[in-house]
Amino acid sequence: MSSTSPPSGLQTLAPYAAMPASCKGRMHPEPAPAYRSEYQRDRDRVIHSAAFRRLEYKTQVFVNHEGDLFRTRLTHSIEVAQIARSVARALRLNEDLTEGIALAHDLGHTPFGHAGQDALNSCMQDYGGFEHNLQSLRVVDELEERYAEFPGLNLTFETREGILKHCSRKNAMQLGVLGQRFLDRTQPSLEAQLTNLADEIAYNSHDVDDGLRSGLISVDSLTEIALFREQFDTVRKLYPGLPPRRTIHEVVRRLIGCQVIDLVETSIANLEAAAPPDVEAARHHGTALITFSEAMREKNLELKNYLRSNLYRHYRVHRMTAKAIRTITSLFDAFFSDPRLMPDEAREHTSQLEQSDGKHGRARAVADYIAGMTDRYAIAEYDRTFNPAR
Ligand code: MG
Repeated sequence: MSSTSPPSGLQTLAPYAAMPASCKGRMHPEPAPAYRSEYQRDRDRVIHSAAFRRLEYKTQVFVNHEGDLFRTRLTHSIEVAQIARSVARALRLNEDLTEGIALAHDLGHTPFGHAGQDALNSCMQDYGGFEHNLQSLRVVDELEERYAEFPGLNLTFETREGILKHCSRKNAMQLGVLGQRFLDRTQPSLEAQLTNLADEIAYNSHDVDDGLRSGLISVDSLTEIALFREQFDTVRKLYPGLPPRRTIHEVVRRLIGCQVIDLVETSIANLEAAAPPDVEAARHHGTALITFSEAMREKNLELKNYLRSNLYRHYRVHRMTAKAIRTITSLFDAFFSDPRLMPDEAREHTSQLEQSDGKHGRARAVADYIAGMTDRYAIAEYDRTFNPAR
């Protein structure tokens, strides 16, 4: 960056950034905020939501009670926000929007990570399925109860667009303007594209860190993976006597760094070549403009596949998965067949949805209740529901 550049915090947005002035608005119109932009307001509403606080006790890979040093969904979301903001600033995109999307992107996650989501999806098979991405949208659009004038958080179109990373055609058709891009096959804003990749950078890197800390994967086996090996060899060469723990942290830090740099440089080249005059042109560009280089994409995929077979499918993780499936399935079956087993608020929500949508409504409300649980709440609720001694 040249010495004549203004301090980075004061940079003006690129023409293709999401501009608060061209915001497509909220489902329930509201006056503009006094001293914040529309996207700052979105981010602030996410931080004040109950669903955001619950992320502290939801599994990323390791169940919350397995150790205090492992990532939770909350620390994961904060790491995604950090990476997304760095990239946004480097590309002169809207940092506030990326931060809001990053902090909200996992709000719909069930307890027990992906195992929980898969279990709830099976339970919901006859009632429209369950998808955590759509549930995040449901949380911010409908389920949060914080404001007098509207349900949910009433976020802007752009933040909601970023939360909805993927969506089936069937679901897209029910989502109006927000679902349209999945039918037209256009792109979301550049801020949404970059937050999605910041999510990948965050989990690939921190799952290496947590995986090594847990002892479920080893440095030896990881050195077969190019992305890890390159950084590991560099660190060993630069700091030959560094103790193992610091070596790993130095490697993980560099893993994040090299992916961020690749993402920024590749995206700058893409943006220079395509030169979209504004965000709408970026949305209608045939392909995503925020991307890794082809070489980095391949290395990334190799690491992802490694983590899938060695960490996520490790027998100790799998045991947790099996327990999670049993817990969630049993709770769903019990509550669905007898909603009177649920606490007052969840029961009222269930009877409301059942009145308007019959059995589908009942199932959706039970799924809302279960998806909102933290790991430890689900475990306690299982005990309260099935343990006759309680
Ligand atoms: Mg995530």
